[in-house]
Amino acid sequence: MKLLEEKIKQDGVAVNKHILKVDSFINHQVDPGLMQEMGQEIAGHFREKGITKVATIESSGISPALMTALALNVPMVILKKQPSKILNQDLYQTVVTSFTKETNYELTLSKKYITADDHVLLVDDFLANGEAATAAIRLIRMSHATIAGLGVLIEKSFQPGHEKLAAQGIEVYALARIAKMGENYIEFQE
Ligand code: 5GP
Repeated sequence: MKLLEEKIKQDGVAVNKHILKVDSFINHQVDPGLMQEMGQEIAGHFREKGITKVATIESSGISPALMTALALNVPMVILKKQPSKILNQDLYQTVVTSFTKETNYELTLSKKYITADDHVLLVDDFLANGEAATAAIRLIRMSHATIAGLGVLIEKSFQPGHEKLAAQGIEVYALARIAKMGENYIEFQE
């Protein structure tokens, strides 16, 4: 998506070779018009997949997921980062390895919001090592729902997330794919 690539070039900050900051329009301050267009783009790509729910991981996935859900006219479900409640039979739970924070955290989903009949589109802001998406898919699959695919705003294609998910049979759609970056440059994948 050209619009997002231009915005990243203008306002994104490659902190180093691995981390891109997009705090001024995605992660901290949010550009609602751009977010809506990105949601519509992801929704358009997956429109024929019979999606019944859009799921995301709190918190930076919420803006793109909400806009995608709005465009598809389906509910959005937030997979919550919260400590495990031992033996809570109303919840599905799994552990995620966090790339940015270098810690583990628990992801939970109430059983009533995703069920076996659902076709779930997962949406997130970034795809890096694919740990968050893999854990989210694991969690959603506990409900026996179908995963329709993964839509992300930014994929860092030099990290292994895309391949990892493709190997599990997950279709990944990324609006911007970064091939390479460093302190003063960002190169997009053709
Ligand atoms: P993964 O599990 O794919 O390694 O990382 C996914 C999560 O880490 C995303 O949901 C995002 O919140 C965060 N993340 C990964 N790489 C970046 C990055 O370069 N910049 C920012 N702002 N967040 C990132």
